[in-house]
Amino acid sequence: MRILITGGAGFIGSHMTDRLIAEGHRVVAMDNLVTGDLANIAHHRSNPNFEFIHHDVSNHIHVAGDLDWVLHFASPASPIDYLQLPIQTLKVGALGTHNALGLAKAKGAKFVLTSTSEVYGDPLVHPQHEEYWGNVNPIGPRGVYDEAKRFAEAVAMAYHREHKVDVRIVRIFNTYGPRNRVNDGRVVPTFINQALRGEALTVFGEGRQTRSFQYVDDLIEGIRRLMETQFNKPVNIGNPNEMTILEFAKLILRLTGSRSEIEYRPLPVDDPKTRKPDISRAKEVLGWEPRVPVEEGLKKTIEWYRSIM
Ligand code: UDP
Repeated sequence: MRILITGGAGFIGSHMTDRLIAEGHRVVAMDNLVTGDLANIAHHRSNPNFEFIHHDVSNHIHVAGDLDWVLHFASPASPIDYLQLPIQTLKVGALGTHNALGLAKAKGAKFVLTSTSEVYGDPLVHPQHEEYWGNVNPIGPRGVYDEAKRFAEAVAMAYHREHKVDVRIVRIFNTYGPRNRVNDGRVVPTFINQALRGEALTVFGEGRQTRSFQYVDDLIEGIRRLMETQFNKPVNIGNPNEMTILEFAKLILRLTGSRSEIEYRPLPVDDPKTRKPDISRAKEVLGWEPRVPVEEGLKKTIEWYRSIM
């Protein structure tokens, strides 16, 4: 197959590129390199099955030749990134998704939208299942990401209903692993790098908010399985292993053997208090569940950050 991945030089896009190239497919990675990095795909540059196009998908997308799939992965995805890039975040979720769907329609390609657990906002239902409509502040600082992704889901379903584009929607929960940028502000790279440098771990609030962390390989397997189904409604892909951020900080201290202290900082506006995926739909539709225990995934990730320090 020939597959376009928008955001192909990003954290998750580059892992998807690796997987598809390993399966023998042809990959066109497209990225404007705002949060993506060519280093993530450098190992494919001389592969004839790999092409890179430097382009911002919020502008009209042109790709020559046939495409079997359009995987729309492009977006700033960490709270710090989308606070610094609010307009680009809105544009790539809205205009970028529209352009990517238009391309899929023109090529007769199937389509994957990487949506997010942020569509549930600061959830009032726990754990979050796909039928829950969410609790999002449209005008808060996170609204630029949450609402863009909610629009992205809406326009994907509209293209599915109106133009019969064969869409898949994956709602990704907190994911970590190698290539997640050191300075993207998310809790996993931040705590690991603080611990490795002997700096204090910056716990926001009292650290009582919860998250559930999944290793990137599990996510890629879930998306790959979703591509093999005929299922067009959203599917949560995440690891239900929920912990508080304070517990997580202590886990990172233990796994790195660091003697860093814990420092408390103000909780960011609209920071969700809890988050845990209900993955019964993924189990039923995809026969999928996460396989990588959190300590194992974190050890691999810590090794990777050590290697690039
Ligand atoms: N967090 C923290 N310290 C940091 C970075 C994040 O305590 O240095 C907290 C943050 O407030 C949130 C959780 O960790 O409750 C996860 O944040 P992240 O930025 O990874 O992504 P989110 O799940 O909020 O999208």
